Amino acid sequence: APNRHVVLPLATDYDTTHSNEARKYLKTYGLTPPGIDTFENQSKRCLAILKSRKTPIEKYQYLSVLRNTNVNLFYRLLAGNVKDLTPLIYTPTVGEACQRWSELYTQPEGMYLSFEDRGHLHTVIQNWPHEVEITVVTDGSRILGLGDLGIDGMGIPVGKLSLYTACAGIHPMKTLPLCLDLGTSNEEKRNDPLYLGSRRPKVTAEEEKDFLDEMMAALTERWPGIVIQYEDFKNPFPSLERYQGTYTMFNDDIQGTGAVILGGFINGVKQSGIAPGDQRAVFLGAGSAGVGVAKQLTTYFMKEGLSEDEARKRFWLVDSQGLVTTDRPGRALAEHKIYFARDDNEGKQLQSLEEVIEYVKPTILMGLSTIGGAFTPKILERMAELNDRPVIFPLSNPSSKSECTFEDAIKYTKGKCLFASGSPFDTLHYEGKDLVPGQGNNMFVFPGIGLGAILSKSVSVTQNMIYASAEALSTSLLPEEIEANWLYPDINRIREVSVAVTRGVIRAAQDDKVDRELALRNISDEDMEQYIRHRMYDPFNEHEKVQNEIEEMFSPVGG
Ligand code: NAP
Ligand code: MN
Repeated sequence: APNRHVVLPLATDYDTTHSNEARKYLKTYGLTPPGIDTFENQSKRCLAILKSRKTPIEKYQYLSVLRNTNVNLFYRLLAGNVKDLTPLIYTPTVGEACQRWSELYTQPEGMYLSFEDRGHLHTVIQNWPHEVEITVVTDGSRILGLGDLGIDGMGIPVGKLSLYTACAGIHPMKTLPLCLDLGTSNEEKRNDPLYLGSRRPKVTAEEEKDFLDEMMAALTERWPGIVIQYEDFKNPFPSLERYQGTYTMFNDDIQGTGAVILGGFINGVKQSGIAPGDQRAVFLGAGSAGVGVAKQLTTYFMKEGLSEDEARKRFWLVDSQGLVTTDRPGRALAEHKIYFARDDNEGKQLQSLEEVIEYVKPTILMGLSTIGGAFTPKILERMAELNDRPVIFPLSNPSSKSECTFEDAIKYTKGKCLFASGSPFDTLHYEGKDLVPGQGNNMFVFPGIGLGAILSKSVSVTQNMIYASAEALSTSLLPEEIEANWLYPDINRIREVSVAVTRGVIRAAQDDKVDRELALRNISDEDMEQYIRHRMYDPFNEHEKVQNEIEEMFSPVGG
C-alpha cells in the first residue's frame, strides 16, 4: 500500500499552517518551524520569493519545489493568481523548462516508460505510489513549437496536469504525468552527456503503435476508467483514431484546440448579429489546422439548422496558391483540401487574399497560415467597411506568426472587430476604454473535458462530448463580459467555467450512453453543478480533512 508519508512526488503534511494538534497527529510536530502560519502570510512569503527570482525559469523552479514540498500551498497560491502564474508553470516558460529538463533535473515528478520496458509496462506502472484518475502522456516528439525533445518533454505533462488541478480541481495525487522514452530524433539531445533519456533514434511508427497498445492496456488494467490525454505527439492522428472508440482518451492538440476555437467562434457569430446561414468565412491557410478548424466550425452551423452541404458552403479556403477551387490549374489538390474546394467560382481563379475578400465579401476572417502580418491594414479596413462587426481570428502561433496583432485589428477596424487570437496579446487602451483581446486558450476546455469524463465514468470521449465543451464554454460568459464584446470569459473565473464545461461534457456522455455513473442521469443541472463543485479538490479546505480524521480518531467508539 502507498505510504502516506512518501515525500515525493507530492507531500502535504509539512504545511506550516497545520495546528499543533494536526502536527502531532501527522507526526510532523517538531519537523516544521514552531509558528503557526496563515494562508495570507504564506501567500505573501511565496509571492515575495517569486518576485526575487530574476528569470522566468528561476521562478518556474521555485514553483516546482513548492508543488513538490507543499502541494496544497502551491494550489492555493495558483488559485489566487491564475493569470500571473500560468505563464510560469505552463506556456511560455515550460518551453524553456523542457529544453533544459535534463540539465536542470532535480526530482521525480512523473513516470517515464522506456521502449526497453516493452513487455513489462504493467509491472513498471505498479511503481506509481498513488491511485490515478487522469494521465497526460507525451512522447516528447513535438513539444510546443520546439521539435523533438525526447524525455525532456516531461515538463508538458507535469505542467498540464497542474492546470487540470488548478482549473477543474482534479486531485493532484490522482494525476499521473507520463513521458514515453521512445528514443529521439534530436541528435543534439542524444549527444548531450546530461541527457537523461535513452540515446537511440526514434523508434518506427510500427514499434510505437505496439508500445502504445501495451501502454493503453496496462494503464487501464491498473486503473480502470483512467482518462488518458495525449499531448504533443508529432503525428497525433493514428493514436487518436486507434484508441478513441475503445479507451477514455482524447488528444488536446487536436480536439481541445478545435473546441476552444469553436467556443470563441460561436460567440463571434452570435455577437456579429448575422444568422449562421448568411455568414461567409474566409480562411487564410488550408493546412491540417485550417481544414481541421473549418470542419469543426461546420458542426456548429449544422446544429443551428444548416444541412452539411449548406454549412460547408459557408467556407472559402485560401492557400499559398490562392482560393482553393475544384478547377484550379496546376498540381492536384491535396486530399484534405477537397472537402472545402469551391465549385461555384465560374472559372475564376483568385490568387491574393485581397481578391478573395472582394469576391466573397466575408463576415469572418480566420488565419491559420503561419504568415505573420498577412491581415494587412488594408484588409482589416476592408473587413470593417463590409461589416458592422467583422469576426477576425488570427490563429497562427507564436505571436510573430499571428496574421495581425490585436492593436492593428482594433486600429484598422476602428474598434469594431470581434477578435480572438492563438497567441496572447496585451490589453489595449483605445478611445478611453481598456479592450481585452480574446485568446483561444485550451485551458478553457481540457480541464472540464477531463473532469467530465472522470465523473461520468465514460468509456470513451465522444465527438459530442468535445462539442459540448465548446458550447458550454460559449455560454459561460457573464452579461458584462458579453456587453464588453468578449468572446471568452475572464480567465480568473476558470474554476466556475470548468464546472459549466464539465456539466456539458457529462450531459453529452449521457446522450451518447457512454457514461457509467448512472446516478448522475436523473439529477437537475443545478444539482449536477453542486455535485461537480463538491467533487473538486479545494486546496483551501484540505485541513478540514485532517481535522476530521483527528476527530474521528478521538471520538468514543460508537459515539
Ligand atoms: P501548415 O500545414 O504549414 O499549413 C499552412 C497553410 O497556410 C497551408 O495551407 C499553406 O498553403 C498556407 N500558406 C502558407 N503560406 C501562405 C501564403 N503566403 N498565403 C496563403 N496561404 C499560405 O500549418 P498548420 O499545421 O495547418 O498550422 C497553421 C498555423 O495554425 C500554425 O501557425 C499553428 O500555430 C496554427 N494553429 C493554431 C491553433 C490555435 O489554437 N490557435 C491551433 C492549431 C494550429 P499550402 O497548402 O499551399 O502550402
Ligand atoms: Mn500541445
